[in-house]
This record gives sequence, structure tokens and C-alpha cells, in this order.
Amino acid sequence: VKPVVAVVGRPNVGKSTLVNRILGRRAAVVQDEPGVTRDRVSYDANWNGRDFIVVDTGGWISDAKGMAAMIAEQAELAIAAADAVVFVVDATVGTLDEDEAVVRVLRRSNKPVILAANKVDDQRHEAMAATMWNLGLGEPYAVSALHGRGSGDLLDAILDVL
Ligand code: GDP
Ligand code: MG
Repeated sequence: VKPVVAVVGRPNVGKSTLVNRILGRRAAVVQDEPGVTRDRVSYDANWNGRDFIVVDTGGWISDAKGMAAMIAEQAELAIAAADAVVFVVDATVGTLDEDEAVVRVLRRSNKPVILAANKVDDQRHEAMAATMWNLGLGEPYAVSALHGRGSGDLLDAILDVL
């Protein structure tokens, strides 16, 4: 049985872009507007000869419950079905209420979490990524899903917890 890695986080942080980076091909749909990835989509992945399944999540449209609650609820479903979780935050924006809602779900889950501080396209954003230590989820891995910066270290960290 292949281990399952869920990629969670609020819309637009770059989850689908990161999934494509992990896969090495454009399979997950990337969009400037949130709301594209419906529910959860699973893909077969391989890194350093190890097979695993990566699950892209997201795109939940806000309803009466509010955005943060929606995202947290959907993340909870994905996390429950996963062996490890990649929590993606946007290092160019910092953390918002929607991020904090997912953090609470992650803490309760007791699943291994790899924190990906995305959109660190260059050195200038490294400092912002480092502030993500404050989330209490361990080392933030500074990555650029778009350009590939840091993605090898992130993948090594993911496989370490599987
Ligand atoms: P998702 O909603 O979390 O799945 O986010 P997407 O993967 O669809 O990406 C949302 C937007 O962020 C798109 O315009 C991406 O091109 C952009 N994006 C994703 N990763 C990066 C990155 O590493 N650097 C930059 N500059 N933009 C990114
Ligand atoms: Mg997406």
C-alpha cells in the first residue's frame, strides 16, 4: 500500500502548483482564481525511487459558515485520510485566519506535518518564510513551487516522515 500525502492550505497559496512540482508534470489545475480544485484529487508520485500518493485539495467556495471554517473542515477530511500532510502557506502574504484554522486541525490530528512556505522565488522572501516558525509546526521549508527552488529538500523531508 502506498503512503498518502495530503497537500492542504487556504486557496491560492500554491497547493496545485506544488503538487505539479512534486509530480514533475502539469496534472493538477493551477488557477489565479481560487475555486478550481474541487474536493480531493489523488496522483501517483515517486521521489528517489519511493512511490507515494499525493492528494491535491482546495478550491472551496465560501458559504454561510465562512471561509475559514470551510477550509478547516475540508482540510480535516483530507488529513484524516492521509499518512502525512504538507501544509502550504504563502510566504509573500504571511498567515491569515484561514491558515490558523487549518493549523488547529493539524495540531489535533497528530499526523506528521511538513510546513511549506511557498512563493519564496528568491532570497528576499527567505526572512518571511522563517517567521513561519511561529506556527509551531516545526521547520518551515522555503520553496518556490513555481520555479522549483527548495523542492528537493521539501520532498526529502516528506519522505523522512513516511
Ligand atoms: P492553490 O489554490 O493553493 O492550489 O494555488 P495554485 O497552485 O492554483 O496557485 C495560485 C497562484 O499562485 C497561481 O497564480 C500560481 O501561479 C501562483 N503560484 C504558485 N506557486 C508559486 C510560487 O512558488 N511563486 C509564485 N510567484 N507564484 C506561485
Ligand atoms: Mg488548487
